[in-house]
Amino acid sequence: HAKREQAGEPVWFESWMSEEYRESVVLESELREAIARNELQLFYQPQVNLQTKEVDGCEALLRWFHPERGMISPAVFIPIAERSMLIEEIGMWVVQESVQQVRRWEGTPLASLRVSANLSVKELVSGRIVEFLTEVRNRYPGIEQRMELEITESFGVFSDTRVFDALQTLHGIGYRLAIDDFGTGYSSLSYLSRLPIQRLKIDRSFISGPDACSNAPLIETIIRLAHTLKYDVVAEGIEQAEQGENLRKLDCEYGQGFYYSRPIPADEFEIWYNRYQEKLKQSG
Ligand code: C2E
Ligand code: MG
Ligand code: MG
Ligand code: MG
Repeated sequence: HAKREQAGEPVWFESWMSEEYRESVVLESELREAIARNELQLFYQPQVNLQTKEVDGCEALLRWFHPERGMISPAVFIPIAERSMLIEEIGMWVVQESVQQVRRWEGTPLASLRVSANLSVKELVSGRIVEFLTEVRNRYPGIEQRMELEITESFGVFSDTRVFDALQTLHGIGYRLAIDDFGTGYSSLSYLSRLPIQRLKIDRSFISGPDACSNAPLIETIIRLAHTLKYDVVAEGIEQAEQGENLRKLDCEYGQGFYYSRPIPADEFEIWYNRYQEKLKQSG
């Protein structure tokens, strides 16, 4: 698809495009009301330490349950929300909900888990989410160490000083930061080394995509690069035991993917976690 973009084809003149556009306008207005109507929910997916097999944390992934259309993927509605300031509303809801989840798990076996929330670069530009995260941290001291914020790499975003400053502020008040989908966004190496982050997440296309088999040298290079910069690495999209094992051998610290669990609601996640812990104990 990259080639197609480079070719600069006037895709917006294609007939399906206007239909899609009209559709997205309808979705946008419905999304505007989704929060008030309680249609949004966070699902959780474990992140596992590939060496010890212990669960290290979980990623919070947004789901929209539309009364007529059923579940709508964030891959569909996040880009729509990003066209307007709706994304700020959603981002604050996601942060608030993740924080409440951390607090609900306090005093339970899941209290040691960190919750990673996804933030859009669009939100970092306006800065409102930074204020919100500052308030959250003042209200619940220590919460910043239990949270991680994943920011998707996309072309040139980290050279935007507003984005860079936002990351700097969040880092300064103790939030952990990760670059999401690493390897797909052509981020410049000079910026990468200066970002106040702790983690790189290798995009799942390298792990379980169609070319995954030939990607081993590339994956190894990304892991080495991350370690040179003192970042640790999470591999996304682990679907088979063997993929996790290979990544562990390449010194990748953490793994995430359907092999461990799909993203599931919090109550199911608790059940999954307890079962997983049982199995871990039995196996060694
Ligand atoms: P992401 O942050 O890179 O999340 C990982 C995506 O990969 C999730 O898709 C997850 O369900 C999927 N995934 C995990 N393991 C596997 C696997 O083993 N195989 C395959 N094929 N897929 C796997 P999901 O939940 O549909 O989210 C898609 C994207 O939407 C996310 O990518 C993220 O960029 C965005 N997103 C999701 N929730 C939020 C949110 O709360 N805020 C923002 N701004 N973006 C979000
Ligand atoms: Mg993510
Ligand atoms: Mg990702
Ligand atoms: Mg993504």
